[in-house]
Amino acid sequence: GLRAMATQAPLDPSKLEINQTSAPRPRLPNAELKFGKTFADHMLEMDWTRTAGWAAPTIRPYGPLAMDPAASVLHYGMECFEGMKAYIDAQGKIRLFRPEMNMARLNKSMTRLGFPSLDGDAALDCIKSLLRLDKSWIPRDEGFSLYLRPTAVSTHPFLGVSASDSIKVFVITSPVGPYYPEGFKPVTLFADSVNVRAWPGGVGDCKVGGNYAPTIRPQAEAAGKGFSQVLWLLGHEDGGQLTEVGTMNLFIFHRNEDGEDELVTPPLDGTILPGVTRDSVLALARKWGEFKVSERNMTMGEFTRAIDAGRVHEAFGCGTAVVVSPIRGFQHNGTTYTVPLNKEDPDAGAGKLTQRFWDEITGIQYGRIPSDWSVVV
Ligand code: PMP
Repeated sequence: GLRAMATQAPLDPSKLEINQTSAPRPRLPNAELKFGKTFADHMLEMDWTRTAGWAAPTIRPYGPLAMDPAASVLHYGMECFEGMKAYIDAQGKIRLFRPEMNMARLNKSMTRLGFPSLDGDAALDCIKSLLRLDKSWIPRDEGFSLYLRPTAVSTHPFLGVSASDSIKVFVITSPVGPYYPEGFKPVTLFADSVNVRAWPGGVGDCKVGGNYAPTIRPQAEAAGKGFSQVLWLLGHEDGGQLTEVGTMNLFIFHRNEDGEDELVTPPLDGTILPGVTRDSVLALARKWGEFKVSERNMTMGEFTRAIDAGRVHEAFGCGTAVVVSPIRGFQHNGTTYTVPLNKEDPDAGAGKLTQRFWDEITGIQYGRIPSDWSVVV
């Protein structure tokens, strides 16, 4: 009732409790860092119950979670997460890249799971405290960063399939190296005509764990055939619609059937994740205003006809982990297609436009290019 609502406490960063570690964790030299394998000293926890609302947020030494085996995250996949990075700039300051977008997306995912909404600004305040405490864990070398994994799980100990009465939001962090230590490594894709990642009316636009577990086997099968990633298709008409690449959004730069240069990415119709990098690529391209920029569906048929006619300039995937990832080819229904990397410079590892997005986005992330997308902590 109203009385219970009125006593639900909001998330209050001024109540943050910090319990510092007395046993710092072992550190690896930068060159030995592997994505998501080592973790910094501390983690952030924000607990919610339906009766009391948000408890005082806490930072404590990194370590296991204790949870009732009936907790509904363990049964019904009541979980969602985020992926973002913190960088150290040339002045030694900590920077985040468009973090309010990650908080908004976390909220969207949480809401879809029937979780309470999370005050993004308050959560970000707590995350900034975590970053200040573990600043020495943010690697300083070029291309290195601290990967942040905000996660929300239902701790509600109940086997009924129902709304959660208790959730835990936690944030762990992991020092990571550049995705391409020796320059771009263009990917080859297996266009999967059997397995579907997301569908109309589903949850493809939310970052829920349930979207990822079913991709492991198709990804392993693609890898077994010698491809780096799955190109996810939807439907079968004209070869199906192109949607995403592995866990990246897809961009194709080509000369379209009307003879115009056009950068195309699938639209946010509920079947693809609204990537922060995708949004940044679109905003930059629109700001430059040098070619047509479209959020629209493209079928495999349209794509392969453009390839066969020599009208594709370059294609890439994009996401927080990689920034941009050049695509050099794919296989679809037994036919192999080559996507040009860089028609002008056969030795380049990426197309001119792909490289330009890389330079601009990483420049902003590390504070070399001034932008309000980069938030100093
Ligand atoms: N698609 C999927 C399925 C993803 O998991 C991710 C990674 N979050 C992306 C796209 C890229 O999103 P972002 O640019 O926000 O990292």
